[in-house]
Amino acid sequence: MDRELVKKLADVLKNRKLPEEVRIMEVCGTHTAEFFRTGVKDLFPENLILIDGPGCPVCVTPNSYLDLVIEIAKKYNAILATFGDMIKVPSSYSSLAKEKADGMDIRIVYSPLDALRMAEENPDREIIFLSVGFETTAPAEAIIIMEAEKKGLTNFSILSCNKLTPPAVDALLSADEVRIDGFIIPGHVSTITGREPWNFIADKYGKPGVISGFEAHDLITGVLALLDLLEKREAVVTNEYKTAVREKGNPNALKIIDTVFEICPAEWRGLGEIPGSGLRIRDEYSRFDAKKKFPATPPPVKEHAGCRCGDLLRGIITPPECPLFDKVCSPENAVGPCMVSSEGPCSAYYKYWRR
Ligand code: SF4
Repeated sequence: MDRELVKKLADVLKNRKLPEEVRIMEVCGTHTAEFFRTGVKDLFPENLILIDGPGCPVCVTPNSYLDLVIEIAKKYNAILATFGDMIKVPSSYSSLAKEKADGMDIRIVYSPLDALRMAEENPDREIIFLSVGFETTAPAEAIIIMEAEKKGLTNFSILSCNKLTPPAVDALLSADEVRIDGFIIPGHVSTITGREPWNFIADKYGKPGVISGFEAHDLITGVLALLDLLEKREAVVTNEYKTAVREKGNPNALKIIDTVFEICPAEWRGLGEIPGSGLRIRDEYSRFDAKKKFPATPPPVKEHAGCRCGDLLRGIITPPECPLFDKVCSPENAVGPCMVSSEGPCSAYYKYWRR
């Protein structure tokens, strides 16, 4: 990190004068956490408001997904392989942590490849990988399905809850519930998608957006570029993360995703069903689709009383405006996923803002 550069940029942001309140949304959960962790949020001029968006995959996963996971594991005695961030997320009536304590075979993995190896090592057990993510993780999950096919594995499947981020931003803007003047667009998603899928922000809604990286200098550069566009009233989407994001994204990764997955409607916490925002496994690979392989009917969905994750993910409130924040809800006793995930806005506010 070039400390001198960060210091210079920080001074520019700190002293930036805004004639009126400006409200920008960071779409991505990693940006949410990094704005706090790096201290860049503290440099914001008083009337620059940062609104958290629907870009944390764990947070936007609805209760119905975990309810189904638990129901399938119970009914078919399968081993669940999951990343650690899903473990403490409350489902309608339970959580993976509670089920594990009650004897369910749930194993934490660090990559989809670990889950595949688990299937090879346990040929007499069904292994279900919980695939929760955005465009960034979908290529690895597609590859793992192709690998499972190559190896002829019959005891491996994934339960896909993969989502596409631009349609969620489109849904948010078309709902028009909250004023957003411009967007900080996720850099890592854009390494896969490129800039083009984000152009609708300018073309359809007349607002600017800036693709940004994640280090302090990236964040400050992104915010300054967005403020410049707003000042000049230029509705365009620009790329300030050129070291990683190419105009057309990563064509190889996009091709791999398209080989295994097809686009479908998907349910988002707080946003409901959004057309064209999900990835489901194509029929050619349906034997690896846990949803088809293990039919199950979970109990009716129940929302967490008082939790306002849905409003948060639509930018309507900030975490401290949730009446449960830091009173009933904390990382040790999380009521909703936004407090569990390290990319969740409640967890970021709890860790950094509270102090
Ligand atoms: Fe939900 Fe807790 Fe966040 Fe409130 S503070 S919105 S209860 S996760």
